[in-house]
Amino acid sequence: MKTLITSGNDDLHLIEVADLVPGPGQIVASPILVGVCGTDLEIINGKINPDYVAYPATIGHEWVGRIISVGPDLDASLVGKRIVAEGIIPCLKCFECQDGNTNRCTTYSEIGFTLPGAGAEQILLPISQIHLVGNEVSNESAVLVEPTSVVTRGFLKVNPKQNAKVLIIGDGTIALIAARLIRTWNPSLVHMLGLKREQTELAKSAGADEFLTEPSDVAYDLIVDASGATSRISDAVSQLVRGGSLLLIGFTGFKIPTTMYVDDIVNGDLNIFGSFSYTRKAWKQTVELLNSGNLDLSFLITHRFAFENFEEAVEALRTAPAPRGKIVMEVGS
Ligand SMILES: [Zn+2]
Ligand SMILES: [Zn+2]
Repeated sequence: MKTLITSGNDDLHLIEVADLVPGPGQIVASPILVGVCGTDLEIINGKINPDYVAYPATIGHEWVGRIISVGPDLDASLVGKRIVAEGIIPCLKCFECQDGNTNRCTTYSEIGFTLPGAGAEQILLPISQIHLVGNEVSNESAVLVEPTSVVTRGFLKVNPKQNAKVLIIGDGTIALIAARLIRTWNPSLVHMLGLKREQTELAKSAGADEFLTEPSDVAYDLIVDASGATSRISDAVSQLVRGGSLLLIGFTGFKIPTTMYVDDIVNGDLNIFGSFSYTRKAWKQTVELLNSGNLDLSFLITHRFAFENFEEAVEALRTAPAPRGKIVMEVGS
């Protein structure tokens, strides 16, 4: 089978390796669609925090696939089923896992980072990582479960109020997903604040009432930062109502500082939440929402590339102009 491989020196190759064989408790899947994102670029160019990656690495943490073989102890009727899979592999034994905080498991291990990802014709993983995808769910929606679970986890932490005025900062995939997902809480207003006016139509499709390129003077109940833009994060503190919440899910970059007016945070009785990745609970909730038919994310796929054209997919990630949603590679069927 063919697999992508990078050493983190801005290189990416498609190489031939032996087919995978599942051991006890494991399955092998063939990825159908594999999304690429900014984190993959950081893995390729070696700019990622080195604690979170093992080289040589196979990228691919956003994917939907089909089970092609199962371990000798597993139910063979699983073969052929469409799945998505949590990337973070929780030990389920440490105090964090026992508390449901699988994103904070004390032994970090993640598919597509420290373990081979889905940028390959086959992927091996423990059965405990998978979630079955309903027949009605499109591959285009299912491939977005991973980034959507990141947003779901953030909202589980914040517990958004009904009728809230909400600002989403950013205009990339996570921001667009956040604009769509917050609709589940019946907000009274959703603004998106981005850089590229060409993202307006995508933002509106996602559920934003308005797409801004300059801050408004609205006081928001909830601001979600999915941009990692330090000046926007600093400004956000003064754009919240008293008792309002700021949810940080974007990265500013490794060791880049941000200033904040602490007095505004104290006087405003504000809540500031950081949310790292996703929990198993967030995955369950996201997959249930998709399988129930109440969430469709397929509008977000704007660029598709055949697997052998992976270099074009990565180049699009670097340079494709807006409008741009999710870029995917078509790996299998
Ligand atoms: Zn990603
Ligand atoms: Zn654990």
